[in-house]
Amino acid sequence: MSRYESEIKLGERYRDTATGFEGVAIALTFWQHGCGRATLKGINRNGEVIDYAFDAAELEVAKTGEAVFPMTIDCPCGIRLAEYTPPPDAPIAVRLGQCYMEADCPACGTHHRERIPAS
Ligand SMILES: [Zn+2]
Repeated sequence: MSRYESEIKLGERYRDTATGFEGVAIALTFWQHGCGRATLKGINRNGEVIDYAFDAAELEVAKTGEAVFPMTIDCPCGIRLAEYTPPPDAPIAVRLGQCYMEADCPACGTHHRERIPAS
C-alpha cells in the first residue's frame, strides 16, 4: 500500500497559474509517474459551476482578501451573533458574493448586515 501526499488541501481555494481559473479543491488524483492533479470547482464567465483538473504543481493558494470561513459576525459589545460556512452546494448567489448575513444583537440592539464573501 503506497502513501500519497499532496500540498493541496481539499476545501481550500486555489488558482491555476496558467489560466487564472480559481476554485475550491474538491478532488485529488495521483498519476502513475508522480504527477498529482487537483480538481478545482469554480464558476466560469457565464456563471456556471464547473470543475477542471489541474497539475497540482501549477496551483497557488488563491488570496482573495475575503474573510475566511466560517464567517462570523461579532458585535462590538462582545457577543458573537452568527457563524456561517457556505455548504459546497451553496446557491450561486452565495458563491458570487451577492448574499448578506444579518443579525440583531440581543444585548445592545445593533443591527449587523455583512456581505457573505464569495466562496
Ligand atoms: Zn451588541
